[in-house]
Amino acid sequence: MKIMSVNSGSSSIKFKLFEMPSEKVISSGQVEKIGFDDATFTLNFNSNNNQKVLPIKDHVFGVKLIIEGLIEHQVLKSMDEIDGVGHRIVHGGEIFKKHELATEKVVEQIIELSDMAPLHNMAHAISIKAFKEVMPNVPHVAVFDTTFHQTMSEDAYMYATPYEWYEKYGIRKYGFHGTSHKYVSEVTNQLLKTSETKIIVCHIGNGASITAVKDGKCVETSMGFTPLEGIPMGTRTGSIDPAILSYMEKKLNISSEKMYDILNTKSGYLGVSGITSDARDLEKSIRAGNKRSILAFDLQAKRIADYIGSYFVYMGGLDAITFTAGIGENSPKLRKLVCDRLTALGVEVDEKLNQENALLISTPNSKVKVFTIKTNEEVLIARETVAFVK
Ligand code: AMP
Repeated sequence: MKIMSVNSGSSSIKFKLFEMPSEKVISSGQVEKIGFDDATFTLNFNSNNNQKVLPIKDHVFGVKLIIEGLIEHQVLKSMDEIDGVGHRIVHGGEIFKKHELATEKVVEQIIELSDMAPLHNMAHAISIKAFKEVMPNVPHVAVFDTTFHQTMSEDAYMYATPYEWYEKYGIRKYGFHGTSHKYVSEVTNQLLKTSETKIIVCHIGNGASITAVKDGKCVETSMGFTPLEGIPMGTRTGSIDPAILSYMEKKLNISSEKMYDILNTKSGYLGVSGITSDARDLEKSIRAGNKRSILAFDLQAKRIADYIGSYFVYMGGLDAITFTAGIGENSPKLRKLVCDRLTALGVEVDEKLNQENALLISTPNSKVKVFTIKTNEEVLIARETVAFVK
Protein backbone atom coordinates (compact mmCIF):
# COMPACT_ATOMS: atom_id res chain seq x y z
CA MET A 1 0.00 0.00 0.00
CA LYS A 2 1.36 3.45 -0.93
CA ILE A 3 0.55 6.41 1.27
CA MET A 4 1.54 10.04 0.76
CA SER A 5 2.17 12.33 3.76
CA VAL A 6 1.68 15.99 3.00
CA ASN A 7 2.71 19.11 4.89
CA SER A 8 1.64 22.29 3.13
CA GLY A 9 2.06 25.97 3.81
CA SER A 10 0.69 29.00 2.00
CA SER A 11 3.43 28.79 -0.64
CA SER A 12 4.79 25.27 -0.27
CA ILE A 13 3.88 21.58 -0.43
CA LYS A 14 6.23 19.04 1.15
CA PHE A 15 5.52 15.36 0.70
CA LYS A 16 6.83 11.87 1.40
CA LEU A 17 5.56 8.77 -0.33
CA PHE A 18 5.71 5.65 1.85
CA GLU A 19 5.34 1.96 1.13
CA MET A 20 3.22 0.75 4.04
CA PRO A 21 3.35 -1.06 6.35
CA SER A 22 7.14 -1.33 5.82
CA GLU A 23 7.37 2.49 6.15
CA LYS A 24 9.99 2.60 3.40
CA VAL A 25 10.25 6.05 1.83
CA ILE A 26 9.82 5.58 -1.93
CA SER A 27 10.08 9.23 -2.78
CA SER A 28 9.99 12.67 -1.23
CA GLY A 29 10.01 16.20 -2.45
CA GLN A 30 8.67 19.67 -2.29
CA VAL A 31 7.15 22.50 -4.23
CA GLU A 32 8.26 25.90 -2.98
CA LYS A 33 7.47 29.55 -3.75
CA ILE A 34 4.00 28.74 -5.10
CA GLY A 35 2.61 31.88 -6.75
CA PHE A 36 6.03 32.96 -8.07
CA ASP A 37 7.60 32.70 -11.53
CA ASP A 38 10.77 31.21 -10.04
CA ALA A 39 9.05 28.52 -7.97
CA THR A 40 10.89 25.23 -7.47
CA PHE A 41 9.89 21.60 -7.64
CA THR A 42 12.25 19.06 -6.10
CA LEU A 43 11.77 15.32 -6.38
CA ASN A 44 13.94 12.75 -4.58
CA PHE A 45 13.80 9.08 -5.60
CA ASN A 46 16.34 6.20 -5.62
CA SER A 47 19.04 8.59 -4.40
CA ASN A 48 18.34 10.93 -7.35
CA ASN A 49 17.59 14.55 -6.74
CA ASN A 50 15.73 16.31 -9.52
CA GLN A 51 15.06 20.03 -9.34
CA LYS A 52 13.17 22.35 -11.70
CA VAL A 53 12.63 26.09 -11.51
CA LEU A 54 9.40 27.20 -13.17
CA PRO A 55 6.32 29.35 -12.61
CA ILE A 56 3.84 27.54 -10.30
CA LYS A 57 0.65 29.54 -10.11
CA ASP A 58 -1.22 27.67 -7.40
CA HIS A 59 -1.41 24.55 -5.25
CA VAL A 60 -3.40 22.61 -7.87
CA PHE A 61 -0.59 23.08 -10.37
CA GLY A 62 1.92 22.07 -7.67
CA VAL A 63 0.06 18.82 -6.94
CA LYS A 64 -0.15 18.03 -10.68
CA LEU A 65 3.62 18.55 -10.96
CA ILE A 66 4.25 16.13 -8.11
CA ILE A 67 2.06 13.41 -9.61
CA GLU A 68 3.45 13.92 -13.14
CA GLY A 69 7.01 13.87 -11.75
CA LEU A 70 6.40 10.60 -9.90
CA ILE A 71 5.05 9.01 -13.11
CA GLU A 72 7.71 10.53 -15.40
CA HIS A 73 10.49 9.12 -13.21
CA GLN A 74 8.73 5.76 -12.98
CA VAL A 75 8.28 5.94 -9.23
CA LEU A 76 4.61 5.24 -10.01
CA LYS A 77 2.93 3.74 -13.09
CA SER A 78 -0.14 5.83 -12.44
CA MET A 79 -1.72 8.00 -9.78
CA ASP A 80 -4.06 5.11 -8.90
CA GLU A 81 -1.18 3.38 -7.11
CA ILE A 82 -1.52 5.89 -4.25
CA ASP A 83 -3.95 4.43 -1.71
CA GLY A 84 -4.36 7.44 0.56
CA VAL A 85 -3.07 10.90 1.35
CA GLY A 86 -2.54 12.15 4.91
CA HIS A 87 -2.54 15.91 5.39
CA ARG A 88 -0.91 17.58 8.39
CA ILE A 89 -3.23 20.16 9.96
CA VAL A 90 -1.87 22.45 12.65
CA HIS A 91 -5.08 23.33 14.47
CA GLY A 92 -8.03 21.04 15.13
CA GLY A 93 -9.46 23.15 17.97
CA GLU A 94 -11.88 21.26 20.19
CA ILE A 95 -13.76 19.98 17.15
CA PHE A 96 -11.24 17.30 16.22
CA LYS A 97 -10.55 14.94 19.07
CA LYS A 98 -9.43 12.40 16.47
CA HIS A 99 -8.12 12.48 12.91
CA GLU A 100 -10.83 12.55 10.23
CA LEU A 101 -11.48 11.83 6.59
CA ALA A 102 -11.16 15.20 4.89
CA THR A 103 -14.75 15.51 3.70
CA GLU A 104 -16.08 18.83 2.44
CA LYS A 105 -17.55 19.48 5.90
CA VAL A 106 -14.23 18.74 7.60
CA VAL A 107 -12.39 21.11 5.24
CA GLU A 108 -14.96 23.83 6.04
CA GLN A 109 -14.36 23.26 9.77
CA ILE A 110 -10.58 23.50 9.24
CA ILE A 111 -11.20 26.88 7.56
CA GLU A 112 -13.44 27.99 10.47
CA LEU A 113 -10.55 27.24 12.83
CA SER A 114 -8.13 29.38 10.83
CA ASP A 115 -9.02 32.23 13.17
CA MET A 116 -6.87 30.43 15.74
CA ALA A 117 -4.01 29.48 13.36
CA PRO A 118 -4.07 32.12 10.64
CA LEU A 119 -0.71 31.19 9.15
CA HIS A 120 -1.51 27.53 8.82
CA ASN A 121 -5.10 26.29 8.63
CA MET A 122 -6.16 28.25 5.56
CA ALA A 123 -3.09 27.05 3.68
CA HIS A 124 -3.85 23.44 4.72
CA ALA A 125 -7.43 23.79 3.47
CA ILE A 126 -6.28 25.19 0.12
CA SER A 127 -3.84 22.30 -0.22
CA ILE A 128 -6.40 19.60 0.67
CA LYS A 129 -8.81 21.05 -1.91
CA ALA A 130 -6.03 21.00 -4.52
CA PHE A 131 -5.12 17.37 -3.75
CA LYS A 132 -8.79 16.36 -3.83
CA GLU A 133 -9.23 18.07 -7.19
CA VAL A 134 -6.25 16.23 -8.70
CA MET A 135 -6.84 12.93 -6.85
CA PRO A 136 -10.60 12.68 -6.28
CA ASN A 137 -10.72 8.90 -5.89
CA VAL A 138 -8.45 8.29 -2.89
CA PRO A 139 -9.18 8.89 0.79
CA HIS A 140 -7.69 12.13 2.09
CA VAL A 141 -7.16 12.18 5.83
CA ALA A 142 -6.76 15.25 8.04
CA VAL A 143 -4.17 14.55 10.75
CA PHE A 144 -4.27 17.22 13.43
CA ASP A 145 -1.28 18.43 15.48
CA THR A 146 -3.61 19.23 18.36
CA THR A 147 -5.33 15.83 18.57
CA PHE A 148 -2.62 14.15 20.66
CA HIS A 149 -3.12 16.82 23.34
CA GLN A 150 -6.87 16.31 23.60
CA THR A 151 -6.33 13.85 26.47
CA MET A 152 -5.24 16.63 28.85
CA SER A 153 -7.58 17.12 31.79
CA GLU A 154 -9.32 20.42 32.57
CA ASP A 155 -6.83 21.47 35.23
CA ALA A 156 -4.10 21.30 32.58
CA TYR A 157 -5.84 22.84 29.58
CA MET A 158 -7.96 25.59 31.17
CA TYR A 159 -6.68 29.09 31.81
CA ALA A 160 -7.87 31.09 34.82
CA THR A 161 -9.57 33.61 32.51
CA PRO A 162 -13.33 34.36 32.69
CA TYR A 163 -15.05 31.04 32.05
CA GLU A 164 -17.22 32.51 29.27
CA TRP A 165 -14.04 33.08 27.23
CA TYR A 166 -13.71 29.33 27.04
CA GLU A 167 -17.41 28.72 26.38
CA LYS A 168 -17.85 31.45 23.77
CA TYR A 169 -14.42 31.74 22.18
CA GLY A 170 -12.63 28.47 22.86
CA ILE A 171 -9.90 30.09 24.97
CA ARG A 172 -7.93 27.15 26.39
CA LYS A 173 -4.63 25.38 25.89
CA TYR A 174 -4.55 23.23 22.73
CA GLY A 175 -0.88 22.29 22.39
CA PHE A 176 1.04 21.74 19.14
CA HIS A 177 3.69 19.47 17.57
CA GLY A 178 1.31 16.62 18.48
CA THR A 179 2.39 14.25 15.71
CA SER A 180 6.02 14.63 16.76
CA HIS A 181 5.26 14.17 20.47
CA LYS A 182 3.15 11.10 19.71
CA TYR A 183 5.76 9.50 17.44
CA VAL A 184 8.66 10.18 19.79
CA SER A 185 6.79 9.07 22.91
CA GLU A 186 5.84 5.81 21.15
CA VAL A 187 9.49 5.14 20.25
CA THR A 188 10.50 5.98 23.84
CA ASN A 189 7.98 3.47 25.16
CA GLN A 190 9.34 0.83 22.78
CA LEU A 191 12.82 1.47 24.17
CA LEU A 192 11.49 1.25 27.73
CA LYS A 193 9.69 -1.97 26.70
CA THR A 194 6.43 -0.91 28.32
CA SER A 195 3.75 1.67 27.70
CA GLU A 196 3.07 2.19 31.41
CA THR A 197 5.51 5.05 31.59
CA LYS A 198 5.96 8.64 32.62
CA ILE A 199 7.97 10.47 30.01
CA ILE A 200 8.70 14.01 28.97
CA VAL A 201 9.33 14.81 25.31
CA CYS A 202 11.34 17.95 24.56
CA HIS A 203 10.71 18.92 20.93
CA ILE A 204 13.31 21.65 20.46
CA GLY A 205 13.52 23.06 16.96
CA ASN A 206 12.78 26.53 15.60
CA GLY A 207 9.48 26.04 17.38
CA ALA A 208 9.79 24.21 20.68
CA SER A 209 7.43 22.50 23.07
CA ILE A 210 7.60 20.15 26.04
CA THR A 211 4.99 17.45 26.61
CA ALA A 212 4.31 15.16 29.56
CA VAL A 213 3.12 11.72 28.43
CA LYS A 214 1.72 9.27 30.95
CA ASP A 215 0.91 5.70 29.85
CA GLY A 216 1.07 6.84 26.21
CA LYS A 217 -1.34 9.76 26.66
CA CYS A 218 -0.54 13.46 26.74
CA VAL A 219 -1.30 14.96 30.16
CA GLU A 220 0.42 18.37 29.84
CA THR A 221 2.13 20.45 27.19
CA SER A 222 3.92 23.77 27.13
CA MET A 223 2.37 25.38 24.05
CA GLY A 224 -1.07 26.83 24.62
CA PHE A 225 -3.88 28.55 22.79
CA THR A 226 -1.25 29.32 20.15
CA PRO A 227 2.31 28.07 19.54
CA LEU A 228 3.61 31.21 21.30
CA GLU A 229 3.23 29.92 24.85
CA GLY A 230 5.86 27.88 26.67
CA ILE A 231 9.64 28.00 26.41
CA PRO A 232 11.56 30.66 24.44
CA MET A 233 12.21 29.59 20.82
CA GLY A 234 14.17 30.74 17.75
CA THR A 235 12.10 33.89 17.30
CA ARG A 236 9.27 33.48 19.84
CA THR A 237 9.21 34.70 23.42
CA GLY A 238 7.45 31.73 24.96
CA SER A 239 5.49 32.67 28.11
CA ILE A 240 5.97 36.17 29.47
CA ASP A 241 4.01 38.37 31.85
CA PRO A 242 1.01 39.46 29.72
CA ALA A 243 1.11 42.90 31.37
CA ILE A 244 4.28 43.60 29.37
CA LEU A 245 2.18 43.74 26.20
CA SER A 246 0.06 46.82 26.98
CA TYR A 247 2.98 48.48 28.83
CA MET A 248 5.32 48.15 25.83
CA GLU A 249 2.60 48.94 23.29
CA LYS A 250 2.26 52.33 24.99
CA LYS A 251 6.02 52.86 25.36
CA LEU A 252 6.73 52.02 21.71
CA ASN A 253 3.46 53.47 20.42
CA ILE A 254 2.71 50.33 18.44
CA SER A 255 -0.47 48.39 17.65
CA SER A 256 -1.33 45.06 19.23
CA GLU A 257 -0.75 43.44 15.80
CA LYS A 258 2.80 44.83 15.73
CA MET A 259 3.32 43.62 19.31
CA TYR A 260 2.10 40.12 18.35
CA ASP A 261 4.55 40.14 15.45
CA ILE A 262 7.45 41.11 17.75
CA LEU A 263 6.58 38.34 20.20
CA ASN A 264 6.44 35.81 17.33
CA THR A 265 9.24 36.87 15.01
CA LYS A 266 11.69 39.20 16.78
CA SER A 267 12.12 37.51 20.14
CA GLY A 268 13.58 34.26 21.50
CA TYR A 269 17.19 33.53 20.48
CA LEU A 270 17.00 36.36 17.94
CA GLY A 271 15.64 38.95 20.34
CA VAL A 272 18.00 38.14 23.21
CA SER A 273 21.18 37.62 21.19
CA GLY A 274 20.43 40.32 18.63
CA ILE A 275 22.32 38.07 16.20
CA THR A 276 20.41 35.02 15.05
CA SER A 277 17.40 32.76 15.45
CA ASP A 278 19.39 29.72 14.32
CA ALA A 279 20.86 27.45 16.99
CA ARG A 280 23.96 26.56 14.97
CA ASP A 281 24.82 30.24 14.48
CA LEU A 282 24.01 30.92 18.12
CA GLU A 283 26.47 28.20 19.16
CA LYS A 284 29.15 29.78 16.97
CA SER A 285 28.57 33.09 18.68
CA ILE A 286 28.65 31.39 22.10
CA ARG A 287 32.01 29.85 21.23
CA ALA A 288 33.23 33.37 20.42
CA GLY A 289 32.19 34.36 23.96
CA ASN A 290 29.17 36.53 23.10
CA LYS A 291 27.38 37.14 26.42
CA ARG A 292 23.90 37.71 25.00
CA SER A 293 24.10 34.53 22.91
CA ILE A 294 25.13 32.64 26.05
CA LEU A 295 22.14 34.17 27.84
CA ALA A 296 19.75 33.22 24.99
CA PHE A 297 20.66 29.53 25.38
CA ASP A 298 20.72 29.72 29.20
CA LEU A 299 17.28 31.30 29.32
CA GLN A 300 15.82 28.55 27.17
CA ALA A 301 17.57 25.75 29.06
CA LYS A 302 16.37 27.12 32.42
CA ARG A 303 12.77 27.27 31.20
CA ILE A 304 12.96 23.74 29.75
CA ALA A 305 14.25 22.47 33.11
CA ASP A 306 11.42 24.36 34.86
CA TYR A 307 8.84 22.56 32.73
CA ILE A 308 10.50 19.21 33.32
CA GLY A 309 10.45 19.77 37.09
CA SER A 310 6.82 20.79 37.00
CA TYR A 311 5.79 17.81 34.85
CA PHE A 312 7.76 15.46 37.13
CA VAL A 313 5.58 16.66 40.00
CA TYR A 314 2.38 16.58 37.90
CA MET A 315 2.96 12.97 36.81
CA GLY A 316 4.29 11.87 40.20
CA GLY A 317 7.59 10.60 38.77
CA LEU A 318 9.58 10.29 35.61
CA ASP A 319 11.02 7.34 33.66
CA ALA A 320 12.55 9.11 30.68
CA ILE A 321 13.25 12.44 29.03
CA THR A 322 13.51 12.41 25.24
CA PHE A 323 15.05 15.20 23.18
CA THR A 324 13.95 15.57 19.58
CA ALA A 325 13.76 17.99 16.57
CA GLY A 326 16.61 20.01 15.02
CA ILE A 327 18.18 21.27 18.25
CA GLY A 328 17.05 18.46 20.58
CA GLU A 329 18.55 15.84 18.26
CA ASN A 330 21.73 17.68 17.33
CA SER A 331 22.84 20.04 20.08
CA PRO A 332 24.82 18.36 22.90
CA LYS A 333 25.35 21.85 24.29
CA LEU A 334 21.66 22.60 24.80
CA ARG A 335 20.99 19.12 26.22
CA LYS A 336 23.86 19.54 28.69
CA LEU A 337 22.60 22.96 29.76
CA VAL A 338 19.19 21.40 30.46
CA CYS A 339 20.35 18.17 32.10
CA ASP A 340 22.87 19.94 34.37
CA ARG A 341 19.83 21.68 35.87
CA LEU A 342 18.11 18.37 36.62
CA THR A 343 20.44 16.80 39.16
CA ALA A 344 17.71 17.09 41.84
CA LEU A 345 15.71 14.54 39.79
CA GLY A 346 18.69 12.17 39.71
CA VAL A 347 19.36 12.86 36.01
CA GLU A 348 22.93 11.99 35.06
CA VAL A 349 24.20 12.29 31.50
CA ASP A 350 27.26 10.56 30.04
CA GLU A 351 28.95 13.51 28.33
CA LYS A 352 30.73 11.31 25.78
CA LEU A 353 27.43 9.77 24.66
CA ASN A 354 25.83 13.21 24.69
CA GLN A 355 28.55 14.56 22.39
CA GLU A 356 27.93 11.62 20.03
CA ASN A 357 24.16 12.33 19.88
CA ALA A 358 23.74 8.70 20.99
CA LEU A 359 20.27 7.22 21.35
CA LEU A 360 20.67 6.77 25.14
CA ILE A 361 22.78 9.52 26.68
CA SER A 362 22.16 8.94 30.41
CA THR A 363 24.52 6.93 32.63
CA PRO A 364 23.49 3.52 34.00
CA ASN A 365 23.15 5.23 37.44
CA SER A 366 20.80 7.93 36.23
CA LYS A 367 17.37 7.72 37.90
CA VAL A 368 15.79 8.96 34.67
CA LYS A 369 16.78 7.66 31.24
CA VAL A 370 17.63 10.39 28.72
CA PHE A 371 17.21 9.67 25.00
CA THR A 372 17.76 11.58 21.77
CA ILE A 373 15.31 10.34 19.14
CA LYS A 374 14.89 11.58 15.59
CA THR A 375 11.35 12.72 15.11
CA ASN A 376 9.35 11.53 12.11
CA GLU A 377 6.07 13.36 11.78
CA GLU A 378 5.58 12.15 8.20
CA VAL A 379 5.60 8.48 9.12
CA LEU A 380 3.09 9.07 11.89
CA ILE A 381 0.80 10.85 9.41
CA ALA A 382 1.17 7.86 7.07
CA ARG A 383 0.33 5.43 9.89
CA GLU A 384 -2.76 7.40 10.88
CA THR A 385 -3.82 7.51 7.21
CA VAL A 386 -3.47 3.73 6.82
CA ALA A 387 -6.02 3.29 9.59
CA PHE A 388 -8.60 5.10 7.42
CA VAL A 389 -7.66 3.41 4.15
CA LYS A 390 -8.16 0.03 5.76
P1 AMP B 1 13.69 22.24 13.23
O1 AMP B 1 12.73 23.37 13.42
O2 AMP B 1 13.33 21.01 13.98
O3 AMP B 1 14.01 21.98 11.78
O4 AMP B 1 15.10 22.72 13.87
C1 AMP B 1 15.80 23.82 13.36
C2 AMP B 1 16.86 24.22 14.35
O5 AMP B 1 17.75 23.11 14.57
C3 AMP B 1 17.74 25.39 13.88
O6 AMP B 1 17.90 26.33 14.94
C4 AMP B 1 19.06 24.71 13.59
O7 AMP B 1 20.17 25.58 13.76
C5 AMP B 1 19.08 23.61 14.63
N1 AMP B 1 20.07 22.59 14.31
C6 AMP B 1 20.11 21.77 13.25
N2 AMP B 1 21.25 21.03 13.26
C7 AMP B 1 21.95 21.43 14.35
C8 AMP B 1 23.21 21.08 14.90
N3 AMP B 1 23.99 20.16 14.34
N4 AMP B 1 23.59 21.69 16.06
C9 AMP B 1 22.82 22.62 16.64
N5 AMP B 1 21.62 22.99 16.15
C10 AMP B 1 21.18 22.41 15.03
